[in-house]
Formats: sequence, structure tokens, C-alpha cells
Amino acid sequence: MGISRRRLLHGIGSGAVAAATLPGIAAGRSVLLMGAPENGGPIHLDRNENPYGAPESAMAAMRESLKSPNRYPDGSVLTKKIAEHHNVSAEQVVLGCGSSEILRMAADAFLAPGRKLVLATPTCPILASYARQKGVEVVEVPLTREFAHDLVAMLPRCDHATGMVYICNPNNPTGTLTPQQDVQDFLHKLPAGIPVLIDEAYHHYVAATPSYASFLDQPGDEHTIVTRTFSKIYGLAGVRIGYAVAPKALATRLPQFALPFGENAAGIAGAMAALDDREFVSRSADRNRADKQTFFNSADVRYIRVTDTQTNFTLLRLDHPIDEVIAHFRANGIFVGPRFPQLDNYLRVSIGRPEESREFWRVWDMLPHKPVHGMSHGDPKG
Ligand code: PLP
Repeated sequence: MGISRRRLLHGIGSGAVAAATLPGIAAGRSVLLMGAPENGGPIHLDRNENPYGAPESAMAAMRESLKSPNRYPDGSVLTKKIAEHHNVSAEQVVLGCGSSEILRMAADAFLAPGRKLVLATPTCPILASYARQKGVEVVEVPLTREFAHDLVAMLPRCDHATGMVYICNPNNPTGTLTPQQDVQDFLHKLPAGIPVLIDEAYHHYVAATPSYASFLDQPGDEHTIVTRTFSKIYGLAGVRIGYAVAPKALATRLPQFALPFGENAAGIAGAMAALDDREFVSRSADRNRADKQTFFNSADVRYIRVTDTQTNFTLLRLDHPIDEVIAHFRANGIFVGPRFPQLDNYLRVSIGRPEESREFWRVWDMLPHKPVHGMSHGDPKG
């Protein structure tokens, strides 16, 4: 970030920066009364959803599906479609009630007391939480300085007692990538028989870069279970569909732990349509990139460091206790966070629509925070 830009903006007051606000705010109405743009509730910048909603094709398919709510859903049509989409056999695809259910199935299939789960910290806490509920030891290996998985340090932590390894790429809550080559090397050296769950919930947000590729397109790897979700770029978080693709030997171990008819009819219909809607996916990724850049610009003018993420959320460096920041936003009708214990100096914020981001910055400017110097997007821990 250029020095000149920092100087240029030196001394701009919060009132000037926050000139553009949601309609109604300027008139002094409470944001809680006014509500979020589409549903009258608070602004959610805490769940990494697609703020633009679902594709119109999916909306139409879901409406149609609701004509027969008396019938149990048939997930096999979606399983087949996902298999075709990824050029794998249907036996390699497992559906879940969100990818959260897949993570739970994997915990049930591969973890038990005496079997360890190895993962990075901080990372998405869902799998570790299922593991701990089962009395499983969770081995946490800190991310590198660049917020990548430290796979060199994770490898020696994997031994005969390791039930599973979890790699979240891009990682939540940091939004950062672990280079594909590093993951390949890790898989190559990992002792046989240890499943590695690669969580690609934010795959579609990654900008084209030689250091990243999905592990879903790596045929023949015996270790990997790759999970995806319809909750993020496809805009279908509310209808709860996720899936895994894995070698047959691993995939067949999961469904015995699935909920019976765990995927609902509307979700199946919406996901079928959304999977075909490549134009929607690329438009959503483009919008996210543009909205993220605008958000970063707003951070820059305030001298705030943000991580240059590959997802639809970012981390803001704080100079204020995180609990107070989260409470301040909540009191003003905006949900941010949650708090990640290893990242007390950072706030995770989902990239919302432009009007939501403007409201975020208006509320931010009401915090009594100090200026932070030396910002950069590329130096997450700097
Ligand atoms: N994996 C990651 C990395 C996530 O961030 C989330 C949710 O935010 C999930 C999995 C679970 O998503 P869902 O159950 O909606 O598919």
C-alpha cells in the first residue's frame, strides 16, 4: 500500500469517511429497527455467506420442489449430477446436510478415543469440535507466518495413532491458501491409511494462481476426502447441502453415519440447478472480488491492516479488545466475528454488499480506536 495514499488520507475524520450510509441511518433511525437489506434483520458479516442470494435458476427449482413436500427427498439424482460434474463415479460422492454433516460423518467413521485428529490452528473449528465431543485428542499445529498450513511441522505429528488429518484450503478464518505443491508433498510422505479431509468450502472464491488447485481434480489419490458446500458461492446456506468426493474405499465408510434423508427436497432441487449455473458462480466471484477491493480501500484509508484473502471474508487487525469490538457492532445491528482464541488481535469480517460494508465502516468509525501504522495486505502477521 502506497505511502502517499496513507499521507493523503491522514487526518480524515470518521464523519467524512462515513459519509455514505444505508438509507435511514443518516436520519437517525436505529439500524436494528431498520434491519438488513433483504429480510429486516441485522446485517450478517459473521457467516461468510453469499450476500447476493441464490441463483434465479435455483430459486425456481426450489419453488417447484415445494409442490410435493409430502414425499421424502431423493438425493440420488444430485449424487449422480455431482459425480458427472466432477467426472467421478456416483459411489465416490457422499451428500450431507451441509458439509458440516460430512465432517461429522468423517469424525464418526475415522475417529474414536485413542485415534488423534491432526490439524492447523487456527482453522475451521467444526471437525475439531466433533472430535472433542467423542473424546478424541486434537493435535493442533500453528499456521506459518503467512497463515498457510505448516505441513512440514504437521507431518511428524502424524503416526500410527492418527485417525485423520484436516486441511482447510483456503483456510477459515484466515482466508489464506496452502500451496498445492506443499499439500502434494505432504500426501506423498504421509503414512498409508491415514485419511486427509481437504475442506474446499471457499474453493470458488480463489483467484487463478499457479499455487492453488482443487484436490477434487486429482484422480487416484488414496488419502483424500474433499468436501464442498452449496452454502457459500452458490448462495444456498439456508437449505443445507454439502458433499464429499473420495476414493470409493473411503466414501463408502461415510453414509452409515448419515442422517436418514438428511438432505431436504428444496436443497436438492436448488443444488441441481445451481451446479449448472456457471455464469452465476463466476458473477458471484467477480462481485466478491470487487466488493473486497472496495472494503480493502476503506481499510487503507483508516490505516487498518487486512489480510489479502482468497475468500469472501477477511481479517482486520485490531487495536481494541475483540470482545468489545464484537459487542459494539452487535449493539449497532451488525454481526461480526466470531472470536478465534488464537487470533485475539484480529476480527473476521465477511465481505457484504456495498451498502452493508458502508454501514460496517460507519459503525467502525464510532469505535474509539487508535491508528495502526505500517499496514500491508501481504503480511498477515506483520
Ligand atoms: N467448512 C468451512 C471451512 C466452513 O467455513 C463452513 C461454514 O462456514 C463449513 C465447512 C460448514 O458449512 P456448511 O455446513 O454450511 O456446508
